[in-house]
Amino acid sequence: MIIHFLGTSGSSITPFRTNSSILIDNDLLMDVGEGTTQKLLQLGSLKDIRTILISHLHVDHYIGLFSFLWHQWLVERDQAPISIYGPPKIRSATEEILKLTSTPVEAFPFQIKYYPLDPKDTILKRGEISTISLIHPTYTLGYRIDRERSICYIADTAPLDRTISFAKNCDVLIHDASFPNKFAELAHKFHHSTPQDAAKIASKANVKILVLFHILGNMENQLELYQKEAQEFFDGEVIVAQDMKKLEI
Ligand SMILES: [Zn+2]
Ligand SMILES: [Zn+2]
Repeated sequence: MIIHFLGTSGSSITPFRTNSSILIDNDLLMDVGEGTTQKLLQLGSLKDIRTILISHLHVDHYIGLFSFLWHQWLVERDQAPISIYGPPKIRSATEEILKLTSTPVEAFPFQIKYYPLDPKDTILKRGEISTISLIHPTYTLGYRIDRERSICYIADTAPLDRTISFAKNCDVLIHDASFPNKFAELAHKFHHSTPQDAAKIASKANVKILVLFHILGNMENQLELYQKEAQEFFDGEVIVAQDMKKLEI
């Protein structure tokens, strides 16, 4: 499997990072932060994306969806349906924004299929896609993709024990690591994690590679610290996510 980290920043963008988005192989997108469509165009890999997984409806994970859909409509013009998975309000929120932005959805050559997670389901499996609900101010999902390898994406969350069994034995765990550990109290107060939190989950879940993700903009000069803090609690490979970095597993 191939992972492209398109956008890796937490909350606000920086000169080096745009908001959260991860491309899996050539066809599946996890989160669509601002700047995603342009990054996909730089990779030359946009047409085949027919599955989109949205972790939650915060602006830094979601708002790039609309320029993506406009590009699919105006430029690619492929007729295959686009499936969008997300929290319970994914359909109503997306339809409302499309309406408010005067988007003529009836002119789209493709159908949008929505898969809102039922809030009653803590963990759900649909074929190769599994979801888990996380701890964040708005309803937030983590995802696991099982193909020939397994990739787990634990988006914005305070550290959460049930993610250990969810991510068990996966090849790559991509985990929220917004703040370095000296800001742990702040991180948890705002429902985020630190490199140390992510490393403890990775270790207990026995994953092979941990990717520290959702790096806050003003922490750019502390990336070595992120790496070091995670390595103290996890023996496997630790990668600090960078925009446009490719990982083949
Ligand atoms: Zn975020
Ligand atoms: Zn968030």
